[in-house]
This record gives sequence, C-alpha cells and structure tokens, in this order.
Amino acid sequence: MKARVLILGGTAEARRLAESLSESWDVTTSLAGRTTRPRDLPGRVRVGGFGGGPGLTRYLVDEGIAVLIDATHPYAARMGWNAAAASQEAAVPMVRLERPPWEVRTGDNWHCFQTLSDLVTALPRYGAHALITLGGADLAAFAQARTTRLTIRAIDPPDPPLEHPNFDLILSRGPFDLHGESTLLSERGIDMVVSRNAGGEKTSAKLDAARALGLPVLMLQRPRRPETDCVDTVDDALAWIGRRVD
Ligand code: NAP
Repeated sequence: MKARVLILGGTAEARRLAESLSESWDVTTSLAGRTTRPRDLPGRVRVGGFGGGPGLTRYLVDEGIAVLIDATHPYAARMGWNAAAASQEAAVPMVRLERPPWEVRTGDNWHCFQTLSDLVTALPRYGAHALITLGGADLAAFAQARTTRLTIRAIDPPDPPLEHPNFDLILSRGPFDLHGESTLLSERGIDMVVSRNAGGEKTSAKLDAARALGLPVLMLQRPRRPETDCVDTVDDALAWIGRRVD
C-alpha cells in the first residue's frame, strides 16, 4: 500500500508536485474552493476548509497522512499557520513549498507596503490610473480610492463586487508577455502598477514593462509565516520528502 501525502494546494507548484508524487504516493490535494474553474489534478482531491488547525489535525490523524506539504499561495495568510500547528499536534512532518519572491532590479521604481490599506492610501502620490493585479479577492479597500482610475485584472471578478466609480475589469489567467503588458499599459494610459510579490515567471512581465516605461510599482509584501522547513522548488520538495521517508 502506498503511503499518504496531503498537499495543501491552489498553486501551479502544488499541481506539479502532485503529478510528480502520484506514481509512488497516495496523493490527496486539498483546495479551499475559491476558484470557480479549478483544473484537473492527479490523485484524490478534497475541497473546502478543515475547520482551523484542530480540524486539520483531526484530518491528518483520521486519514493516516504520513507527510504534509503546505504548497498554498504566498499570499494565503492563514493556512500556513494552521498547517504548522496541525503538523506539530499530529506529529506529521511538514514542509512549506513557496516560490521565491521577485527581487528589485536596476531601473525598477518599487514602493513596498506591508498592508493593503497603506497601499491604497498612497495611490494618489504615484499616479492617476492604476493596473491592479492582486487577484479578485480582498479588493474592497479600493472603494476608498475614488479619485484613482482602476484597471483590475484577475482570474475571477471581484468578490464581493467592488464599489468604485471608475474601474475596468480584465478577466484573464495569464501567462503574460512583455509585449502584451507594455501595450496594455501604454494604450490604456496606465501610470502605475499595483502588484503582490508573487514570484515566478508567469506574471513577471508587468514588472519588466513597468521598468521599461519608467512606471512606479506599488508592491504589497508577503504575509508573515511560521518557522517551518521551507523549500522553493518542486524538485527540492521531492528531495525533502525522500530524506524524511528514508
Ligand atoms: P488563507 O487565508 O490562508 O486561508 C483561509 C482559510 O481557507 C483557511 O483557514 C482554510 O480554512 C481555508 N483554506 C485555505 N487553503 C486551503 C486549502 N488548500 N485546502 C483547504 N482549505 C483551505 O488562504 P486564502 O488567501 O483564502 O486562499 C485560499 C486558497 O487559494 C489557498 O489554498 C491558496 O493556495 C489559493 N490561492 C490563494 C491566492 C491568494 O492570493 N490568497 C492566490 C492563488 C491561489 P479552515 O481554517 O477552515 O481549514
């Protein structure tokens, strides 16, 4: 019988890890259920919250999970804390798989913010028309930015719906390239980019376009995480699992 691994997912890395492990492990990927069109995954899939750290602890014990991988998105602020607590309580080894953040490069004009509310307050200092690339959730704070024009790009529409007098919505999953991003910024007269430090290559072209056009980037920093074993690639996660199981 194969040993069971639970991957807390919702990212491309979680999918790739599930694909790599599915031959030799009994893989379950857990999704929060936020995305309306999740892609197919190998192995078992469960959807919805566990009921906090205690709920996840119960799940690990009841399902006989041998290894836990937290591969949730860098901006999923809560699940990592639940996972770290449950891993300790249930004595199930855990590793965090998190892609490295983007680094500032020569010519960049980044302004970093720890909270979304500070970022929204600062918008008028940097421009008049912002490209917002923060996903569709948690955009309610932009209701305060009434004098700033917004172009919001997300996979799903804002939920809850955004109350703002002057915004356009672009629904798109990416990946995006430099030509497309430069055209979007220039043709729409966008003069600042609002981004999270997601890392990876799929959505980094907006930063190259902003650099080329001399536009400021307002960067929302990643949330704080518990101290756990941490790797930044799928290969390193596989090596970590190999070491723990030997
Ligand atoms: P979060 O703040 O860390 O989690 C909120 C609650 O959602 C958790 O306490 C948990 O509920 C449930 N949850 C989160 N991830 C889960 C998972 N993989 N399986 C089962 N339950 C999960 O996370 P979030 O920002 O709401 O994001 C939700 C999911 O979307 C994450 O899995 C993440 O990987 C994915 N995602 C998020 C973003 C983003 O920008 N935040 C972007 C892309 C993908 P219980 O406490 O009841 O267990």
